[in-house]
Amino acid sequence: MAAGGRPEMLEVGAAQKIVLGSVPLLRAKSVAVDEALGLTLAADVLAPEPIPLFDSSAMDGFALRCADVAGATEESPVSLDMGALSRAGAPYTGPMGARTAVKIMTGAMVPPDADAVVMKEYTDDLGETVLIKRAAAPGDHIRRRGEEFAEGDTTLFAGMRVTPPVIGLLATLGFREVLVRPNPSVALIVTGSELKLPGEELAPGQIRDANSPALVAALRAIGIEPISAERVVDEKETIASSLGAALGRADVTITVGGVSVGDFDLVKDVAEEIGVETLFWRIAMKPGKPNYFGKKGDALLFGLPGNPVSALVSFHQLVRPALRAMSGRTRGDNDSPILARLEKDIRKRTHRLEFVRGRLGRGGGGEITVLPLTGQESHKLGALGRADCVILFPRDEHRLAAGEPVEVERLDWSAS
Ligand code: AMP
Ligand code: MG
Repeated sequence: MAAGGRPEMLEVGAAQKIVLGSVPLLRAKSVAVDEALGLTLAADVLAPEPIPLFDSSAMDGFALRCADVAGATEESPVSLDMGALSRAGAPYTGPMGARTAVKIMTGAMVPPDADAVVMKEYTDDLGETVLIKRAAAPGDHIRRRGEEFAEGDTTLFAGMRVTPPVIGLLATLGFREVLVRPNPSVALIVTGSELKLPGEELAPGQIRDANSPALVAALRAIGIEPISAERVVDEKETIASSLGAALGRADVTITVGGVSVGDFDLVKDVAEEIGVETLFWRIAMKPGKPNYFGKKGDALLFGLPGNPVSALVSFHQLVRPALRAMSGRTRGDNDSPILARLEKDIRKRTHRLEFVRGRLGRGGGGEITVLPLTGQESHKLGALGRADCVILFPRDEHRLAAGEPVEVERLDWSAS
């Protein structure tokens, strides 16, 4: 017991360290590029050849020698002979006669004798000849071979998520397969004898199950389709058989509810009885105090508390970072706190780090502000639904005053 008779509880940061120190890195595998969306690059991607592959025109216009059009203006254009045509995919790469221009389309190869392209808008196509109404400098409107990547350059880094532009770049580089780490497989078990789904009749004292849909959605939002999602009653045998099966199948099992100190909070005891090693139970955070974390072999078990806000905030603080780390993802921009000016006083009594649901805004001077929302109790999903961030109310503080800078973490449910 700590001073004052409070039970010792793990700090949030220490819990996060234990989690990230326990997650295995999933094995890399080669997959077809068009199946890689949302997965994580397992290795840097090097350019196997220069990109662009050849000098090409950035505009529709005329490829020419700059020296031929020196001093050309709208009022005194220069007339050049019309040469061949260079189209995207059907290039002209032969010689160009003296004082000749080659009509060229965007993306077409620039003939070796030309050193610039003049945009069509500054020319008059007369058929046999073309009037050029602008001077040009060497290299104008030419995309150079290798200007974006030289052969061997690193184009993408291990740990990045495969997004649509990444797929496009991989195709540009000529890859049909790419080395990625998969997303972990996840099983979800929601406990609670009182729970019904929308559409089912509620007997007195029963409530609707918010956590099954919310946690399935939280997983889908980061690109993971759970391999199973079941709801079980608060009964030892039922929980044991579901949990045993899930731990045997999934990289990560998430249970929700039944992990506190009530008579029907059975998850921790059952987990230990079936051989799960407890790595922690209870964190000095609010919401989310009774969080449980354990492992059996390589299989991980997160036991999230059942209050819907606790479950989702715990998922965001503990589970999401773990799932990302297992696929080798580098930290996202939204993972680090930012400073914002508090718009309203907030108080608390606990000696726990509180995640106060808030909304970011802009003050008169352009500074970032944060408004703490009403309805902070952990059974009230409304505030979390409206929130786009949590204010970090430090463990040992009891009042934060309006106008103070406070640390804020964005609530990013996305896969980014
Ligand atoms: P527990 O962690 O199981 O003790 O649950 C804590 C509180 O959250 C209780 O009031 C439960 O009724 C409620 N609760 C647990 N699971 C859910 C759920 N899936 N949906 C909505 N409320 C829940
Ligand atoms: Mg319960």
